[in-house]
Amino acid sequence: MNVQSRANGLKVSKFGGTSLATAEMIRKVCDIVVADPQRRLIVVSAPGKRTKTDVKVTDLLIACAQGQLTAGSAEKEFNDLVARYREIVEGLRMDDAVVGEIAADLRQRIAADVSSPEKFTDQLKAAGEDHAARLVAAYLRSRGTDAHYVSPKDAGLLLSDEYGNAQVLPQSYENLRKALVGAPGITIFPGFFGYSPAGDLVTFPRGGSDITGAILAAAVNADLYENFTDVDSVFSASPVVVDNPRAITKVSYREMRELSYAGFGVFHAEALAPVVKAGIPVCIKNTNNPSAPGTMIVPQRDNGNGPAVGIAADRGFCSIFVSKYLMNREVGFGRKLLQILEEERLSYEHTPSGIDNISVILGEKQFTAEKEARVVARIRGELGADEVSVERGLALIMVVGEGMRRRVGVADRATAAFARAKVNIEMINQGSSEVSMMFGVKADEADNAVRALYQEFFENHR
Ligand code: ASP
Repeated sequence: MNVQSRANGLKVSKFGGTSLATAEMIRKVCDIVVADPQRRLIVVSAPGKRTKTDVKVTDLLIACAQGQLTAGSAEKEFNDLVARYREIVEGLRMDDAVVGEIAADLRQRIAADVSSPEKFTDQLKAAGEDHAARLVAAYLRSRGTDAHYVSPKDAGLLLSDEYGNAQVLPQSYENLRKALVGAPGITIFPGFFGYSPAGDLVTFPRGGSDITGAILAAAVNADLYENFTDVDSVFSASPVVVDNPRAITKVSYREMRELSYAGFGVFHAEALAPVVKAGIPVCIKNTNNPSAPGTMIVPQRDNGNGPAVGIAADRGFCSIFVSKYLMNREVGFGRKLLQILEEERLSYEHTPSGIDNISVILGEKQFTAEKEARVVARIRGELGADEVSVERGLALIMVVGEGMRRRVGVADRATAAFARAKVNIEMINQGSSEVSMMFGVKADEADNAVRALYQEFFENHR
């Protein structure tokens, strides 16, 4: 791997929930950690699913909080949680007292003040990461490795007080740098939560351990941010839709941003922000196959391998089509239209437009039937539109690749692929970034569209 050496030779390695789900997985995590002396800052998620139908520890904790808030008791969830930890502790042949400590801490969290349900839920929800970090540190020590749990409170990871949706506060970076650079041995840091300036525990959105890892990497100016998950790499299309899609070995920050926008769920998009700003490369790797090269996400990449790096699709969109004769001459039409959406608290995604018409693409869930009726009536009444129609059940398909910028005929190839697959294109939008091209299709045609595009750009590789 050709990563330029940075200031301090540190790697931040984050392990996701499946990597901590069982004793066997935790052993693999620890083997990976000690295999590379640069891996000195480790971020862990809460134990995830052991099998497809299993429940994540974080979900058990949320159920536990809900039980306590609504019925004043959460015995079943508490017992399930303790059983999960007992299984792990026994599997790692650690002292049984560890289970007792975790159970006592859980009891304390369950008995916390419930006057703010959000605050109560967050402090309980974060227990999964906190216990996992303490456990991994203790296990590494039992194997003779100098490892230490570090609490986000002591390290100064300060977040906005938006429960379940917190954002990092700028002073955290300096705090973390001071606390973590030069720390002895290996630091094991829990993901997913930090503290508000008032001292209350707050969590990031779900999947937020990725964000913690990225913040730490930026704070210590790491050589590399490694993100260990349960796949060998990011694939160029969903393996559920395309058979054996090609693995992506290298992708630029911009490409990854566009792919995750349109449904590539392997990496938390928000998590890229701190590493992008600091120019730190990210490597997605598999805990079950650590010697596989994984996918590198880098500031820039050469684009010699075809126009597209990936094809993504996301469902759940709708469009509002508005037409009015001589719309192009009417100063302020677009602003007034978007203002109606703002007043209805609707966020929009795209606004492809023609001479006398404009479409607004938005997430379908927020656009309730009631809002739809009001918005349509307002656009007709206040803007004097000739026609307003709403189409639901749309999917957005994105062809993403740095290579598209300098190549002619990409749109041609894409539309020809749609035509061959007999998929009707409802909307085309080429973003000004030119690293992606977007197509709106009916949601039930999305898979066909992805397969057709994959065939065109990856199998008929030109
Ligand atoms: N455990 C948390 C979740 O399930 C955070 C994470 O895993 O990143 O959302």
